[in-house]
Amino acid sequence: MSTETPSEQPRCNLVGLGRAELAAEMAEFGAEPFRAHQLWHWIYHRGATDFATMTSLSKPFREKLSTRYELRRLAISRSLTSIDGTRKWLLRFRDGEEVETVHIPEEDRGTLCVSSQVGCTLTCSFCHTGTQRLVRNLAPEEIVGQVMIARDALGEWPSPQDDRQLTNIVLMGMGEPLYNYGNVAAALKIIMDAEGLSISRRKITLSTAGVAPMIRRCGAELAVNLAVSLHAVRDDIRDRLVPLNRKYPIADLLEACRTYPGASNARRITFEYVMLKGVNDTPGDARELVRLLAGIPAKVNLIPFNPWPGAPYECSSDAVIEAFSDIVFAAGYSAPVRTPRGRDILAACGQLKSASVKLRKSERPPLPAV
Ligand code: SAH
Repeated sequence: MSTETPSEQPRCNLVGLGRAELAAEMAEFGAEPFRAHQLWHWIYHRGATDFATMTSLSKPFREKLSTRYELRRLAISRSLTSIDGTRKWLLRFRDGEEVETVHIPEEDRGTLCVSSQVGCTLTCSFCHTGTQRLVRNLAPEEIVGQVMIARDALGEWPSPQDDRQLTNIVLMGMGEPLYNYGNVAAALKIIMDAEGLSISRRKITLSTAGVAPMIRRCGAELAVNLAVSLHAVRDDIRDRLVPLNRKYPIADLLEACRTYPGASNARRITFEYVMLKGVNDTPGDARELVRLLAGIPAKVNLIPFNPWPGAPYECSSDAVIEAFSDIVFAAGYSAPVRTPRGRDILAACGQLKSASVKLRKSERPPLPAV
């Protein structure tokens, strides 16, 4: 016979709700409308995880809230810090699936690399994440939750205005954000809200492998910065590197970029280009890249290929990367080489893959009690 007390009704998590949803939830709960506003502030500006700390609410109301709701964080399965200060968190969701989130500190800013899916369906041949079988979309709270975990770890509550270590967000973690557009958009609206997490759309970059038909919508509705994983200048090569190219070839993709709402010389589109030895790295490739980008407010980000176990590619040599960069630069485009960060903890571009997928369920560390 069980001696446990009967389990309580599962409480509903308020973290991850958008403004309208929180207002609707409070209306249904019988609270006055301004309560939703106060809660928003506590949850997303102050980072509260306990109703008891919400001193602007009456004690009976706080107690009533806690009978029905909770303020839950994602569970951290593992956190690693690189010798260069980059931090990686492996985060676990309620269904046991996991993603990785990476914080990259720099001198005058700090960037959080956020995941949008568990795994990825795109199977780009140079990317480790694409070798992970399990794929599902992240819910809005699972995307917002990654930012909140970072704020917790960096000690940045209430949302600071200056001297932040988390200034920028890039949707360049696991997954294809434009294949999970609705949830990514809902999460970004929460993240951008000035009375909450308050990270401006100018500091947010969404990276896509090239879901051409969704690009316009992303620009019109979210107006965040766009990055495009181009990686090749010929369709036959890009078909191999980024199989999505068979659906949306280079010409279609660049056409979508040419008309990206909000792109201007002040807000250029970033073209990411991974440098793969003997595959896409000749001076001819660089010249063709310049030709393709004509008429698009663009900058190029050259990414040295980051190796992972069993990867079928090698990184181009420094001299080859430099020569490529010089050609693009001479044509008037900025073409920095992205310094790999966090390689020692497999946190660099394309290295993310939750290690736990290889562990049997019984071998995984237990979830902390909620
Ligand atoms: N699906 C989106 C978001 C992922 S962004 C996209 O493709 O843009 C991750 C970035 O890292 C992409 O530009 C990707 O092409 C790049 N990348 C993947 N594997 C890499 C590797 N092994 N070395 C360097 N960059 C890699």
